[in-house]
Amino acid sequence: MSTKRLYIVVPCYNEEAVLPETAKRLREKVHTLMESGAVSSDSKVVFVDDGSKDATWSVIEGLHEQDPLFRGIRLSRNRGHQNALLAGLMTVKEECDVTISMDADLQDDINAIDGMMEKYAAGNDVVYGVRSDRKKDTFFKKATAEGFYKLMQAMGVETVFNHADFRLMSARALKGLAEFTEVNLFLRGMVPMVGFPSDVVYYERGERFAGESKYPLKKMLHFAAEGITSLSIKPIRLITSLGFFIFLVSIVTIIYSLVRYFTGHTIQGWTTTVLSVWAIGGLIMISLGVIGEYIGKIYLETKERPRYLVQTYLKD
Ligand code: UDP
Ligand code: MG
Repeated sequence: MSTKRLYIVVPCYNEEAVLPETAKRLREKVHTLMESGAVSSDSKVVFVDDGSKDATWSVIEGLHEQDPLFRGIRLSRNRGHQNALLAGLMTVKEECDVTISMDADLQDDINAIDGMMEKYAAGNDVVYGVRSDRKKDTFFKKATAEGFYKLMQAMGVETVFNHADFRLMSARALKGLAEFTEVNLFLRGMVPMVGFPSDVVYYERGERFAGESKYPLKKMLHFAAEGITSLSIKPIRLITSLGFFIFLVSIVTIIYSLVRYFTGHTIQGWTTTVLSVWAIGGLIMISLGVIGEYIGKIYLETKERPRYLVQTYLKD
C-alpha cells in the first residue's frame, strides 16, 4: 500500500491565542507520522478561518509562508463551526486520501491521530474520536453534554455517544458526504448515514489551551435542537400521539360533564375547566412551535443557499 496523503482540517474562529501552539504541535505530529511512513510527505494541515474578527487569518498566512505544510482557507464570513468544517473537508477532498477534522483549541488529543491512522490502515473509512471521560469538563458541561446525546438517541438520531467532530474520514467517505446537500448541517449525525466501515478511537478530552469557548449555553441548546429537527421527525410523531391521547382524555371528560349535567352539578368543575383550557392551550402552542421549526427547516432547504463561500485558498 502506498503511503497516504493526510489532510488535517481545523476550523478556527477567533483563535489567534491558540493557533501558534496548535500549529507547532500538529507540525511535530505530522512530521513523526511522515518519518514512520504512516502518511506521505505531501500531507497538509489546513486551517479554515471562519470569518474571524481577530488576527486569526494573518496568523494562518504567516504559518503558510513559513512552512508549506500549512494551508489556509478563508471563508467569506462567519458561518459557524459545522459549515466551516464542511467547507474545509469539501475543498480538500479531491487532493487527499484521508482527512482528520479537529478543533483548533487543542481539546482534542493530537496523539489520538496515530490510533485513527492505524484503524484507517486496517480498512476503515471513518474513525470516530470518542471521549473516554469528561474529567476536565465542569459538572454542568458534562451533564448537559451527556443529556444531549441521550436526547438525540431518544429522538431516533443515530450518533456516536460522546463523539463530537474529531474524526477521520477517507476521501471515499467525503465524496459520500458531498452527496448530502442539506443546509441544516449536523455533521456528527450525517456521517453515520454515509456508512462505510467505521471504528472508534478513545481519547481524553483536555481543557481549552487558550481563548474562550465559542459555544455558550444558548448556542449549545440551539445546536441540540438543530441536530434533532434536521435529522428526526420523531417530535412531530410525538405531537400526533399526544393529540390522540388528549382526544381520548376529552372523551372521558365529555362523558363526565354530561353525567354532572344530568345530575344537576353543573357549576362545579370550574377549576378543571380552567386548568384544562390552559393545559391544552399550552400543548397546542408547543406543538405549533415544533411544527414551525420543521417548516422553517423546509423553508431554508428549499432556498438551497450555499452553505459557505470560500474567499481565499492558500495553497502552494
Ligand atoms: N468555531 C468555528 N466557527 C464558529 C465557532 C467555533 O469555526 O462560529 C470553531 C472553533 O474555532 C473551534 C471549534 O469550532 O476550533 C470548536 O469551538 P469551541 O472550542 O469554542 O467549542 P467547545 O469546545 O467549547 O464546545
Ligand atoms: Mg473547544
